[in-house]
Amino acid sequence: MISVIHLAEQLASKRIPIMLVADDQILPESCPVRAQLGADIASTWALHTGQQYHVATPEKTAVLLVGPSGQLDLYSQHPIVLSGVSVPGTLLKKWVGVLWDCELTFIPFLEDMIKVARAAFRPLCALARDGLAPLAEVGSAMRAKVDSALFYGSMFLFLVPEAQLRLVNLQFEFERCLLGAPKWLPEVLLRSSGGWEMSWGDQLIYDALAFLAELWCCEASMLVRTVWSAAQEYQGRTFAWASRQSLLELQLPEIFDCAEWSAFLRDGTPALAIYKSRLKTFLCARSIQLWKATLVSSSSAQPAILSWQFPCSAGARLLAAGFLSSLVDADALDSFRLYLGVCSALKNKSCPLCGSSHSGHAHVLAVCPAVMGPRCIFLSSVDSVFASRLEEAPPGDWPTAILNPHLDIQRLIRAVRYTADIMDALRLH
Ligand SMILES: [Zn+2]
Repeated sequence: MISVIHLAEQLASKRIPIMLVADDQILPESCPVRAQLGADIASTWALHTGQQYHVATPEKTAVLLVGPSGQLDLYSQHPIVLSGVSVPGTLLKKWVGVLWDCELTFIPFLEDMIKVARAAFRPLCALARDGLAPLAEVGSAMRAKVDSALFYGSMFLFLVPEAQLRLVNLQFEFERCLLGAPKWLPEVLLRSSGGWEMSWGDQLIYDALAFLAELWCCEASMLVRTVWSAAQEYQGRTFAWASRQSLLELQLPEIFDCAEWSAFLRDGTPALAIYKSRLKTFLCARSIQLWKATLVSSSSAQPAILSWQFPCSAGARLLAAGFLSSLVDADALDSFRLYLGVCSALKNKSCPLCGSSHSGHAHVLAVCPAVMGPRCIFLSSVDSVFASRLEEAPPGDWPTAILNPHLDIQRLIRAVRYTADIMDALRLH
């Protein structure tokens, strides 16, 4: 191990301090000359690591100088030159330094990452809350903004005690804010509308295990692989230990225990993509299974309606299919399903629209005379097969048939329109 570290030290004799803030890298230097030196070294590193720098592009604040104004004047007279060299990305770009420190206990600052994610989330949440953007669009922006704060180098978050739990809870917090859902709405119901394939906790496991497999797939002659192999022997709470531990707990094989591995060794047949996709399928299925188990044990939930919904939302599907004009209606489907924004409807034992002693999704969707007009429009706009199936079905079957984001896309467009009309009627009461 020591000799490997020495080798790494020799190769990395030109080192600069870099601070990682979300997906930005900061070179903390107060002297322009040293900052230029650091920039030169960083440029040299770019050749080796495939790192790309965005310099002076209008949409990027590429070089951000922070400091006393006198200092900043110096920088404006002698601007930093960072020669961005574009090299095809490599597996381990940005993380070379961390791997070289593998004998140290490296623990990322999860709390700081959560703060950054919250800051990124705030304006997105405001958009959703003020009705300026449909949830599906906010959700996809969240993946870009918030995920990049949380899941940047997330494989190492694995080492933080309770990281998975913290991320799962953060996800609930964000979903609740986005939907404007009250505290009494169970977390398991929030999860159904987020449309995430995996919980953020499972995403963390996936990132760590996929990265573990990537390390094993590096060429044996590469320094990173040598260091990695040596790290296996090191006692302590390292990434090597934690990731292997997780494989054991989930009863998953290492990539080199899979059938594809021998073909990979023989002629380089890609094994990584197959392994990663299998990993993802496993974790998604596990995520859904856990969700359903929680749902079943939650007495207030309505499994018949909700078991359809996970892990997909009507908005996410319509966005993916390019039906942007239906996205606002899709939010109505979620609100109606969870009775959001119309709490009085939930408290009333009788229907808030027609006063009948029946209430609930089935009554409103299938029977309620107060939304007869929208129902007729809905039934005449969907295909005749779906319409006649609904007309023959008992009211109890309507929610599962209509509030289902996995519907055929044309049916889904009509269904979200219908629920939007219902929500309009409910809001008037
Ligand atoms: Zn009614």
